[in-house]
Amino acid sequence: MLFLAALALMIVLRLILAWRQISHVMRHRSEVPTQFAGRVEIAAHQKAADYAIDRTRFGVLRLAVEILLLLAFTFAGGLQALHDFWSLRLSGLAYDIALVFSVMFVSGIVDLPFSLYSQFVIEEKFGFNRMTLRLFVADLAKQAALGMVIGTPVLTAVLWLMAQRSSYWWLHVWLFWCGFNLLILFVYPSWIAPLFNKFTPLDDEPLKARIQALLQRCGFAASGLFVMDGSKRSNHGNAYFTGFGKTKRIVFFDTLLGRLQPVEVEAVLAHELGHFKHRHVIKRIVLIFGLSLAFLAALGQAIDADWFFYGLGVTTKNMALALILFFLVVPVFTFIFTPVTSLISRRHEYEADRYAADHASAASLIEALVKLYEDNASTLTPDPLHSLFYDSHPPAALRIARLNEC
Ligand SMILES: [Zn+2]
Repeated sequence: MLFLAALALMIVLRLILAWRQISHVMRHRSEVPTQFAGRVEIAAHQKAADYAIDRTRFGVLRLAVEILLLLAFTFAGGLQALHDFWSLRLSGLAYDIALVFSVMFVSGIVDLPFSLYSQFVIEEKFGFNRMTLRLFVADLAKQAALGMVIGTPVLTAVLWLMAQRSSYWWLHVWLFWCGFNLLILFVYPSWIAPLFNKFTPLDDEPLKARIQALLQRCGFAASGLFVMDGSKRSNHGNAYFTGFGKTKRIVFFDTLLGRLQPVEVEAVLAHELGHFKHRHVIKRIVLIFGLSLAFLAALGQAIDADWFFYGLGVTTKNMALALILFFLVVPVFTFIFTPVTSLISRRHEYEADRYAADHASAASLIEALVKLYEDNASTLTPDPLHSLFYDSHPPAALRIARLNEC
């Protein structure tokens, strides 16, 4: 019952926020906000408004199907049916793995039309899609294969730890989970990312010299500057950091370099360095690890309780089913914490902007942001409440106003 109440709350909140966003963006569609007048064309502003509206509407449809799927797995007996099917044919670990993978498979199939529509209809309509159907299928196949190769041993280990029936199994699972995540963070840049993109060393000498000077000023050592072929899939641009210690890399999307002046690239990089210097990545990891400990402790309590299974439409009690049920219902309960994580993230963005203003140039960062907002068709007039709830980055107007004060 608690679950149904949380589910209803989530649906109502998401619908209200979507409705507010659409009506707010529509109301401000006819005019470029005064702060951006002369900098952003009316056509670009309206494109951003239409893009925001289309994506919000699409999100509502996706939400509806997501909820139906959740209800189908639980109350409508979908999970129980999968259990009945596999338990007749397999036992032990093979049963567990077949059950978990079949739930993931069904979810993946249901989501597929949405991914296709998002990429080939919405992104295409606004000129962002650079993917061919062939690349889409290749990506999907690679992701599935990677999921199996990495997922099977991880799942085996987790189920084995749970099967030990120690009263602190959830603590053991947590320790394993943290270790696994750190390992992925470590191997991602050199092993996983290259499966999907090409990384070439940055060879623009003047830009390189400018960046080296910035790194020196900030006392930062990186093992390489790379350009990623982001244009293979999308026209959206970005820059990021990966890795730890000696394996740290700075990665620029080719789409970003193609659009910004060197002095603007420098400002964007200084912002990213700000995230690093303020230890935002580490803080985020600590937060996620802390939350997962709390959730695993909760699972430790729920796993023996009848209400957890019977209340969610499952009449058989076992560990694999508990694990699946848990992952299905957790997002419903964590949804109300979204504004908290968004708030922390926005605070980090302001800190990183401040760092960029101190070590590079606030004016160049503003120039870069205006270009990036325009290129990414990010709306300049989001609904304040919608933004407060979801946005990991502050709205453009507030962010630029702060930078102007620097
Ligand atoms: Zn940032």
